[in-house]
Amino acid sequence: MYFSLTKEQQMIQKEVRNFAKKEIAPHAEEMESTGKYPYGIMKKMAELGYMGIPFPEEYGGMGSDWVSMHLCIEEISRADITLGALLDVTTSVVGQELFVFGTEEQKKKWLVPLAEGREIGAFGLTEPDAGSDAGSLTTEALSEGDEWVLNGTKQFITNIGFKNGSVILVAAKLKNGVIATFIVPKDAEGFVLGPKYEKMAWRASATHEVILKNCRIPKKNLLGDLKHGFSQHLAVLETGRISIAAVAVGAAQACLDESVRYAMDRKQFGKRIFDFQSIQFKLADMALSIELARNEYIKAAWLKDHGKKHAFEATCAKLYASEMAEKVASDAVQIHGGYGYMEECPVSRIYKSVKLLQIVEGTSEVQRILIGRHLAGK
Ligand SMILES: Cc1cc2nc3c(=O)[nH]c(=O)nc-3n(C[C@H](O)[C@H](O)[C@H](O)COP(=O)(O)OP(=O)(O)OC[C@H]3O[C@@H](n4cnc5c(N)ncnc54)[C@H](O)[C@@H]3O)c2cc1C
Repeated sequence: MYFSLTKEQQMIQKEVRNFAKKEIAPHAEEMESTGKYPYGIMKKMAELGYMGIPFPEEYGGMGSDWVSMHLCIEEISRADITLGALLDVTTSVVGQELFVFGTEEQKKKWLVPLAEGREIGAFGLTEPDAGSDAGSLTTEALSEGDEWVLNGTKQFITNIGFKNGSVILVAAKLKNGVIATFIVPKDAEGFVLGPKYEKMAWRASATHEVILKNCRIPKKNLLGDLKHGFSQHLAVLETGRISIAAVAVGAAQACLDESVRYAMDRKQFGKRIFDFQSIQFKLADMALSIELARNEYIKAAWLKDHGKKHAFEATCAKLYASEMAEKVASDAVQIHGGYGYMEECPVSRIYKSVKLLQIVEGTSEVQRILIGRHLAGK
């Protein structure tokens, strides 16, 4: 076993780290407090090729791998969590589903603009009455001549509210009860962008309801086959779990960075608070748990790159990293004392933000169910 990143992976990691530190971190606070979407930053990320890292060059990508993609997601999230999530949804979920299950024509038309970062992708699985139990969704797709007609409501949809959020992959039920996946452009007849949700954090991330009212799309917009639309979507969400773990590691690392800096600087009782054992032990535990979570997401991504099974590792990475990030962010606030509770303190923003990671793309409870099933050999 060779426990090192390749030269190319190290290069991508270093480049993204520098970019995120210089171009994103200084704006993270303002993005959160104003809720202004970072179109300028997205454009720069697109120019550097970050949305297309794992896809071949012929589809607008960088021709690299999933380890590199996740190192990129970690570094971007270290500066701002919402931009890490944007990459997760656009590349790991939507881009990948188009790449793996799309026809050549679909890849050229829909994947290339996403991989080049000119457009941003969204996926619509969740509905008002179908969250963890996604299979109970009720959005329906009827075949009419050479079109599909979709009716239903999708809830909590990330990215689609951006002006460059152009397409959503919609999971919908056919007459026979089977779930299929459809490529729905935002300008399709009957597509209605519902209201923007006001969230407790992640204000610079667009989250909207999507209403499909006799929404008409061409027959050729079916993605994958008619029988396996649901399982193909769940398969790409496996990669989404690795991505959420990378987002969590990035956010937790930012908390550790801030906490070490603060603890070295802040003096009480005539000493740096870093020199109090209880503070140093907290920092040591933070560093330890971040390292473990990082190793697990990189392992899952590496297994994926090598065509090996990685569902268990992806689930462990998502569950452990998202719960770790909440604990690390809470300890970071504690280390900052009263200042940690102030809006202007970076760790207070991260503390509010990381909670979501235990909910999206499968809650912690669902991850434990999946691990239980794995133990039972199912
Ligand atoms: C900001 C944000 C962005 C999102 N982005 C997207 C997106 O882009 N696309 C999309 O499709 N969805 C998106 N989601 C939806 C997200 O994936 C769901 O919220 C999540 O899957 C949980 O579903 P739910 O909210 O309906 O909760 P529920 O399923 O109602 O769960 C409520 C609680 O019950 C628990 N629970 C449910 N079933 C079980 C069980 N069998 N055993 C034990 N506990 C159980 C859950 O773990 C949870 O604690 C987003 C959500 C948010 C908040």
